[in-house]
Parts: sequence; structure tokens; C-alpha cells
Amino acid sequence: MKYLLTIWIWLSCVLGVWAISPKSDFPVFWSAKEKYVALRDVAAVYGMSISKPAAQRITLQDRTQTIVFKTDGREVLYGGNLIWLHAPVSFVRGRWAMREVDLRVVLDPLHRPERYLKSVRHRVIVLDPGHGGQDTGAKGKRGVEEKRVALDLARRLRAHLVNAGYKVYLTRENDRFIELDERCRKAARWGADLFLSIHLNSAGSEAAAGVETYALAAAGYESTSGGLSNLTQPGNRYESANGVLAYQIQRALTQRLGAADRGVKRSRFLVLKNAPCPAVLIECAFVSNAREEAQLLDDAHREVMAQAIARGTLNYLNLAKRAQSEAP
Ligand SMILES: [Zn+2]
Repeated sequence: MKYLLTIWIWLSCVLGVWAISPKSDFPVFWSAKEKYVALRDVAAVYGMSISKPAAQRITLQDRTQTIVFKTDGREVLYGGNLIWLHAPVSFVRGRWAMREVDLRVVLDPLHRPERYLKSVRHRVIVLDPGHGGQDTGAKGKRGVEEKRVALDLARRLRAHLVNAGYKVYLTRENDRFIELDERCRKAARWGADLFLSIHLNSAGSEAAAGVETYALAAAGYESTSGGLSNLTQPGNRYESANGVLAYQIQRALTQRLGAADRGVKRSRFLVLKNAPCPAVLIECAFVSNAREEAQLLDDAHREVMAQAIARGTLNYLNLAKRAQSEAP
């Protein structure tokens, strides 16, 4: 017996069997006061193959999933959808590696949601149509106003989520101004389990188009687009769930609309920071883009957008339910 055990330990070490056990933690190493995990160790823990770096890409793959890392970049394609890491994948101490925080907060919750969503509640959804009243938000050349589209989308989305059996509140039911803090306080009063802030984007360049969904940035890291950060601010205790929710919504929206995928990004928007539950902010389209503004004028298109956001939200909620039904 002792003999067999010795052989097992020896085989485990030689073949790295320990590393593919789903219970094992990732081996972490330090460089310049930052914690890293080697991509080859991520692949080993996930039981995926890993490619050599080629054309600035490293690909992890198994039968059901593909993860493409950009070397010296923050972009990762997870299942074909773009997510932004807090810091670039870089060559550190002889291996390609990602920051430990990006593995823990961004990637691992997407890949193994069952580990992170066990205690997520799923009954009350708060929808937050951005802006309102004197604050019109972004405005397009043909007169589309962000505050009006956001409210219309929230109402349509509510219908789908109520239909699916959820209790849904809107932070505003009509065209009036509400402070950002008050939106979060309302969500807390209503016992929100989920908070979706709905916005439209605008850019100086008319070429900018597509969808992006924001989750709260981790402590010590800038927003994806830089600036606007108080780096000492903490993340929040929902940070793993935030990313899964953002990914599911971003994926559903880009697939359904065929819109440009600008990715799941990180930011410190006040409503994300102060939300009393998992929260994301969705930039559904660009009013500054002529084609997308024309689409926003179309009732049928806005309905498709609302359906897609509902689909993404329900996918997240189903993952949470599954995580809880599988809990030991
Ligand atoms: Zn806005």
C-alpha cells in the first residue's frame, strides 16, 4: 500500500497531475511587488492545451472553450468575446503571465462561475435608466436623446424580466433627474440582488460604434480607458459576480445585434462602486454614430436590444441558480 502511494506521489509530480485537479489553487509568483500566474499554469489547472506565442497571441483550448490572450496587451477573447484585463499579459521571469488579480477577479469567475456565484441572490432586479430631466445625456445629430432611449429600454427590459418571474424596479419611471447616489440608495431600499444601469455612448469620432459593458475595477487599478480613478478605492465584494454578469450581457447583446464588440471593461462609475449588489453599466450603442442612431430610432431594434439584455441577465441568473443547486 505504502509502495503504491509512493508511486502515485511520484507520478503526480512527474506528470503534473496535481495541477489539473479542479481543487488546486493556481501557483502564484512575485515580480516587482506584483503577483502573477503563468499562463501555462492556468492551462494546466483548466486542463486546456496552450499554444506557443504566435502573431502576438497565446491560445488556451479544450473541447468546449477557447481563450485567446494578447501578449503585452490587456485584451482576451473568451469564447470569442472581448474582455479587458486590468494589466497586460507580460513576459515575466521567463514565462508569459497574467496578474493574479486578473485571474481571480476577471478570468476564473467566467471559466468556473460555479465557484463564485454560490451566494448570489436572485429575486429582485433594479434597472437604472441613465440621466433624466435636465440631464439629457448624449445626443445624436438626428435628435436621439440618451435619457429617452435608456428609459424606453428599461421599460421593455422590465417586461421581459417580469415575465421570467423576477421582481423588477426602475430607479426612475419618467423623465426626471435623479442623483447617482440616490439611484444606489433606492436599490438598497428595494433589496436589489442585481443592478443594471442603462446608457448610450458618444464619441468625438463618428466612426466609433458598438457595445461595451462595464464592471467595477479592482482596487489599485485604473479604469480600462484610463483616468478617472482613485486607485486606492477598493473594489467591492461582488467583483467576481460583476464580471460574469457583464460578460453574459455583453455576449448576448453583441451576438444578437451583430454590433461591434468593444468588450467588457472596468471602471469606477459611482453607481458601480456604491451598488448594494452585483452591478454593471451597459453602453448599448453610440448616438454619435449615424448608423446606430438610425437604429435607435427604430422601435423594433430597441425591442431586440431589450430582449438581448434580458437574455444575458437570465443567463447569469441561471448560472447562479446552477451554482447553488450544485453547492455541497
Ligand atoms: Zn450616460
